[in-house]
Amino acid sequence: MHEDIDLLNSCFVDKSPEDLLTFFLKKYKGRIGLASSLGLEDQVLTDMILKIDSETTIFSIDTGRLFPETYLLIDNINSVYNIKLDIYMPKSEDVEAYIKKNGVNGFYESLDKRKECCRIRKIEPLLRALSALDVWICGLRREQSVTRSNIRMVEWDEVNKLIKVNPLVNWKEQEIWSYIEINQVPYNVLQKRGFPSVGCQPCTRAIKKGEDIRAGRWWWESSEHKECGLHKR
Ligand code: SF4
Repeated sequence: MHEDIDLLNSCFVDKSPEDLLTFFLKKYKGRIGLASSLGLEDQVLTDMILKIDSETTIFSIDTGRLFPETYLLIDNINSVYNIKLDIYMPKSEDVEAYIKKNGVNGFYESLDKRKECCRIRKIEPLLRALSALDVWICGLRREQSVTRSNIRMVEWDEVNKLIKVNPLVNWKEQEIWSYIEINQVPYNVLQKRGFPSVGCQPCTRAIKKGEDIRAGRWWWESSEHKECGLHKR
């Protein structure tokens, strides 16, 4: 670790996400990237980042099980910002072996099978993408779920041996929507159809009014399991 994480958190406590991003994008140019889940927060960050440094790496994982609306969003991002998102996909031989053993939707059968699918389709491609970086930027916010209530603006990611920067950690949902509307940021149309958190199609459902914003993800599991492992802490 090259940074004093506590010091950075105290230095940026009253600063804007753009200030934090400007510091890291300059200092770690070429070794920093946004791991975009294509959610609202990552769309805000994409907009902020490209306005600061249009050459910054922005990558996303295509698990092969995304919603059609998510693929439309990828096209839209590329068109609006005149970029090509870096898309990482799972290894075909791993997916084939999983399906041969568990079937195409084996992830519904047990927590182990669900986690194995997430490992193959999400985590392995993510690790490949992160291997070229020293810093990854994420759109995590504290109010998103019980598993995210303690995240910090800057963290040392001991699992991946990287600095993890969460510029929107303190933002509320309304601030995200305001930024998107004011800056005309593209977003997934499912967000306005009851899907505040959009993941893979078979593992995401719309939520009802008053439900937790991540209630639609892996809805058949208890809340402490509702992470795919990308943000293990
Ligand atoms: Fe597989 Fe579902 Fe995880 Fe997507 S969210 S990788 S389909 S278990």
